[in-house]
Amino acid sequence: MALMPGVTRRLIPRNFTRGGQTAVHGVLLHIMEGTLDGTDSWFRNPDSQASSHFGVGRDGRVFQWVDTDDRSWHASGANSTWLSIEHEGRGGDSLPPPQLAATARVIRWMHETEGVKLQLADTPAERGIGWHGMGGSGWGSHPDCPGNPIKRQRPAIIAAARGTTEETDMELTDAVKLPAWGPASWPKDVGLQDGKISVNTALGSTYGHAQRSAENSAQLVRDVQDLRAAVADRGAGRARASGLMTTPEPSGSVAVELAQLRGELGAGLAEIKGSLGVLVERTARTDADLKQLRADTEGSARGLQHEIDELKRARWPLAQIGSLLAVGALIVSVVALFTSN
Ligand SMILES: [Zn+2]
Repeated sequence: MALMPGVTRRLIPRNFTRGGQTAVHGVLLHIMEGTLDGTDSWFRNPDSQASSHFGVGRDGRVFQWVDTDDRSWHASGANSTWLSIEHEGRGGDSLPPPQLAATARVIRWMHETEGVKLQLADTPAERGIGWHGMGGSGWGSHPDCPGNPIKRQRPAIIAAARGTTEETDMELTDAVKLPAWGPASWPKDVGLQDGKISVNTALGSTYGHAQRSAENSAQLVRDVQDLRAAVADRGAGRARASGLMTTPEPSGSVAVELAQLRGELGAGLAEIKGSLGVLVERTARTDADLKQLRADTEGSARGLQHEIDELKRARWPLAQIGSLLAVGALIVSVVALFTSN
């Protein structure tokens, strides 16, 4: 089963062959000669005997009508080996920027999910991004589907598909919203004292590592957002240009930037992993240190108690002191007796 996430699922109950997609040579672009909603209705009609895997509106809305495991009925002899995208509009139209961008997203997904090659196909023997009319009579004789302007936009579509980043529901900023965890300051790290690490030092060190990891994450997200903004600016400029130009502008710079972005992301994640590794190690160390500290303290306390007991018993024998005092008093009495006479 292959359903594209993030698009409107409008699976139709008929007019397709379940499990009939025996191969994927690429995707054929079509023009609806009508609207997205009208086509949605027509594909549900038993009389139409027609369908498409996807439909893209001029406003960028995307409908998925048929699972890509199933064969849509869009180009006669090509049905079992080519996927399909219908476009809202009339023959001779070009795709406005939202429609072009949406088509690029669908093609990007087909590339990742179905192995559609991001290259031009202009004959049935080729593989990649083709068009309905290229198959001639064997594909239903639709030489003007989808029309020259859209055919010429395919390089721009491919460039956009290469540059498309998958959007997720999660805002990047949400992932690293830093809570006010940990106190504003921490006792000075004094290192080992008498061969032992103090509790404050151990906790402070752990907290320090955790905070540094969080700061690294926040910085990484800011860098990624800057890069995404830069890539989006370029993409918007390219889409504007492609609407006006009859020949595609050279592609590649966006792809290069994305490759760099991926590289930086990889490096950033490796750094975070490293910091987390250190943090985990420090936490384990802290546990061991605390255990040792407790054992030492208990040992010392037991020793001290023992010494006190010894002192009580051996060095300050109250019975002997009592008898010594008694002897002392006797001597004093005797001396007093001799000196008084
Ligand atoms: Zn067509």
